[in-house]
Amino acid sequence: MRRGFKTEAERLADRMRAQLGLEPHDRMAIRNLAIHLGVEMHSADSLVARSDLDELNRIQPGAFSAATFHLPGGRTAIITNPDSEPGRINSDIAHEIAHLLLNHEVRELQQLGGHTFFTCNPEQEEEANWLGACLLLSRALLLREAFAGSDPTIIAQRYDVSIPMARFRLNASGVLLQAKRARSSHTRR
Ligand SMILES: [Zn+2]
Repeated sequence: MRRGFKTEAERLADRMRAQLGLEPHDRMAIRNLAIHLGVEMHSADSLVARSDLDELNRIQPGAFSAATFHLPGGRTAIITNPDSEPGRINSDIAHEIAHLLLNHEVRELQQLGGHTFFTCNPEQEEEANWLGACLLLSRALLLREAFAGSDPTIIAQRYDVSIPMARFRLNASGVLLQAKRARSSHTRR
């Protein structure tokens, strides 16, 4: 990831919360952000036959998480996989919104099971993963939870994200270390 991107991502996530009238530590209902940005959301089974989705999941399990489509008339739609867990779907929506916020261009067309998929380059994927995670779990929010001693399971439940996502953000954001340091300096006094 390019230098400064992580800080930029946290700021962008804070800005999105502010636009929704939220504090930096507030829970983000990712679907509300999509609505705010004028992005439509559709479940894939409302667009293609259920049997085609099942076939796709069989050919390559987990191949389809979500995709963004730019439609005529300036409409943007995020298509999600109805077979994914709710926490995973939220991550997928956040990831797609991150691509949009970062103005990532659609780079590749992929054919799979008779369907066309758009994928981005690896660096952009990494950026979208990072920003998507910040949108769901901001640093301010994680810091509060770390001080409260919340574990990834509690965080996952409270914020409708997957447990791996909660664990990843707790570690990657550095809040665990910050909370631990604060506690030990408090004890020393
Ligand atoms: Zn992506």
